[in-house]
Amino acid sequence: MRCPVCGKGALVSVDDILSEIGGLTFVEHGHRCSACGKEFIAEQDSDRTARVARRLGIWGEPLKLHRKLSASGRGVVLRIPEDLRKSMGLKGSESVSLVKVGKSRVLVEIESN
Ligand SMILES: [Zn+2]
Repeated sequence: MRCPVCGKGALVSVDDILSEIGGLTFVEHGHRCSACGKEFIAEQDSDRTARVARRLGIWGEPLKLHRKLSASGRGVVLRIPEDLRKSMGLKGSESVSLVKVGKSRVLVEIESN
């Protein structure tokens, strides 16, 4: 199976995909691209993780939201989806800090209201 993200690598079956939720690490089965390293968690495993995390009360609303970035004159804009905004009680005037984590992750931390 070819990787749908980079189109170059092959998807290799793995059983060591780590998802960190609420400070706990879940180990899941799935596939990993041999070229770009993108991980695809098996559906039954991501369902199981969600179930366990919900039971432990550490499941934050939707775990992963996919959004497109848009370009503006001074940079790139990321909109916080409305359901996430509501669940976090964001007013839109907060200060945030951005932390670059590795090559393709950014952690957004709300600093003040
Ligand atoms: Zn890939």
